[in-house]
Amino acid sequence: MKTRVLIIGSGPAGFTAAIYAARANLFPIMVEGGPPNLPGGQLMITTDVENYPGFEVGIEGAVLMEHMRKQALRVGTEIIAENVVRTDLSQRPFRAWTDEGSEIVCDTMIIATGASAKWLGLPEEAMLYGKGVSACATCDGFFFRGKDVIVVGGGDTAMEEATFLTNMANSVTVIHRRDQLRASAIMQKRAFDDPKISFVWGSEIVRIHGGEEGKVTHVTVRNVKTSATSVLPTHGIFVAIGHTPNTKIFAGQVSTNDEGYILTQPGTPKTSVPGVFAAGDVQDLVYKQAITAAASGCMAAIDAERFLKDEAAA
Ligand code: NDP
Repeated sequence: MKTRVLIIGSGPAGFTAAIYAARANLFPIMVEGGPPNLPGGQLMITTDVENYPGFEVGIEGAVLMEHMRKQALRVGTEIIAENVVRTDLSQRPFRAWTDEGSEIVCDTMIIATGASAKWLGLPEEAMLYGKGVSACATCDGFFFRGKDVIVVGGGDTAMEEATFLTNMANSVTVIHRRDQLRASAIMQKRAFDDPKISFVWGSEIVRIHGGEEGKVTHVTVRNVKTSATSVLPTHGIFVAIGHTPNTKIFAGQVSTNDEGYILTQPGTPKTSVPGVFAAGDVQDLVYKQAITAAASGCMAAIDAERFLKDEAAA
């Protein structure tokens, strides 16, 4: 397969890049991801999106992504439901290989691979994943109807997860490592006002315990100041402590910061490799919003088009 613009990733950044590139007659190919990954990016696991302009009463994240996908297809994007596992950015044309054995050769590349949920790093997380441990309330909240659950974290994601979980859980306890939330004022207020949500401040989970059935039964919580530990019974733990950029497949080929976020030239989606652009959360250390991701996807497509035009004119 060969394309003028290859877009890797299918969140708001990827789809916006695809819509702009397709409308510029660049016939983009998007590799959207496939099992075990969930195409559509983080909005697929978000409940109501209330801050994306154009939807007066909000819109479900998955519905918004379905609209974007259909729009990208309608204007002429080719979408491949595979995962890119390797890339070669060392020379042009660039190349990408997928887990299904496809090789895609491209004149320009837009990296929109986003970021993935971080875990606490406890060995029990992997052991009890799907048995009470989760990083997605929208996906797994259903299983905790009438149960007591914990959300770890103090950011917007944690508040959103906690608030969402009150729809089904009996109680939601937010465990945060500091005494102050990082979440925006409106999300904090929503959580504080909810009678089902309580907070354990300045504390971290040091152990997750499973019962005989192999399901989560309780956690050991440590106060970070006093080091005193206590036990908290629970049925589920939702880890909501931020994200890691999905940049492994580009490692050593494009400049990143220490955390792996792709570095772009200020105010542009241009990476350290001419012809390779980055958009969305994979390069965003500050805003990380669907709307800013979409905007940077638009910029990446426009810059890819200009790059190809300048090259043709040279
Ligand atoms: P953040 O980085 O904002 O918050 C992560 C939280 O997890 C922080 O409170 C942090 O603690 C805590 N944390 C990090 N590592 C650990 C650890 N190892 N153990 C315990 N706690 C830890 O991530 P979010 O995912 O919440 O949000 C990311 C971005 O997405 C933000 O810009 C946010 O505004 C945005 N967002 C917006 C939404 C909306 O508008 N609807 C919804 C969800 C996210 P500490 O505070 O001490 O650093």
